[in-house]
Amino acid sequence: MDKTDELKAFRKQFYVNEEIIYFDGNSLGFMSKRAESALESLKESWKTFAIDGWTEGKHPWFYFSEKLGSMSATLVGAKSEEVIVTGSTTTNLHQLAATFFRPAGKRTKILADELNFPSDIYALKSQLQLRGLDPDGHLIRVKSSDGNTLKTNDIIEQMTDNVALVVLPSVLYRSGQILDMKKLTKEAHKRNILIGFDLCHSVGAIPHHLSEWGVDFAFWCTYKYLNGGPGSVGALYVNEKHFNKEPGLAGWFSSSKESQFDMEHSLIKAADAGAYQIGTPHIFSAALLLGSLEIFQEAGIERIRRKSLHLTGYFMALIEKELSAFDFHISNPSNDNERGGHVYLEHPEAARISKALKANGIIPDFRNPNGIRLAPVALYNTFEEVWRAVQMLKTIMEEKSYLKYENKRGVIA
Ligand SMILES: *Cc1c(COP(=O)(O)O)cnc(C)c1O
Repeated sequence: MDKTDELKAFRKQFYVNEEIIYFDGNSLGFMSKRAESALESLKESWKTFAIDGWTEGKHPWFYFSEKLGSMSATLVGAKSEEVIVTGSTTTNLHQLAATFFRPAGKRTKILADELNFPSDIYALKSQLQLRGLDPDGHLIRVKSSDGNTLKTNDIIEQMTDNVALVVLPSVLYRSGQILDMKKLTKEAHKRNILIGFDLCHSVGAIPHHLSEWGVDFAFWCTYKYLNGGPGSVGALYVNEKHFNKEPGLAGWFSSSKESQFDMEHSLIKAADAGAYQIGTPHIFSAALLLGSLEIFQEAGIERIRRKSLHLTGYFMALIEKELSAFDFHISNPSNDNERGGHVYLEHPEAARISKALKANGIIPDFRNPNGIRLAPVALYNTFEEVWRAVQMLKTIMEEKSYLKYENKRGVIA
């Protein structure tokens, strides 16, 4: 399978540590050589042009966020002008909630889910509080019947006429379940509700068609599958039908480029997604993304998805074959339409098994209370690595070497 892998050439473009098997690219992707040279190139423009780097050099900083947004657009199925690289996942959610959450009459609630990433929930609660609404009564969280996944119909049932806004993940960070964004968008709109998605765990792993589905807004980070580096600048999408909406959180980078330096006290906002920027872009934290996005353009998200499904499918088959004697449960959806980019294995001793894997050079990530996430990334992982990891896991279980460790998570897990 490695021999016939159509993406195998890309592994060489990354700094792969051959001593380990890295399955944590869904938390922090590997550094690529292209990302490094993009950073070098942006550093050069500072050295050479100082202040004039805003408009001179290979990648003028003044237009850099728009350029990266445009390069990201195909990954989410949007028009170039609907995407901007700015902020972080959480600050972008704040911006989008400030812009799109317009409680009126009895429509005063936000619909989310009980499996969502904590940062998104904290942000939504504080947005409610800022409007003087009690988060306990106004943030509805759809329940999961199995603790790992959500049912489309359970979400739709909660789209009542008290709901003004729906915010959901595209792919759940634990179980890797893909939500049916197309259907959820259609159902929300039937009920006059706006809907947005957090794409942190899907961008760079699966294709999206945000414009075609009519999704109102989306936001994501770029350091997971997109390999933008620790703290790399995030991104947001706003459907063009909303380009008339004033940014909820304005700043001078919300301006149209032409009027920004008029220094007037009344904002003339940009006519596209650029309007939802706030302040001066973090150029070096965005620079690495330039190199990384070039790789995605060459590899193509459809090919990446095909290999990713193949890798996770192989992983699940091996786990079933080799580890059936142990108490593992594969808790990600098994069918291709619903499975994101990682495998989610549950085991009562997951914390210490993760530690034993790490001590043996296999890097998973543990998710409280009992989950092991394993992300074989299409751009740089191999089928052989999947095979070796399962053999190692089997050895650890047979020899019970995980008992050496405490069944407790580390500070970062
Ligand atoms: C990674 C992740 C975040 C992180 O938000 P930051 O603002 O980038 O720290 C938020 N939400 C989800 C669903 C994530 O997976």
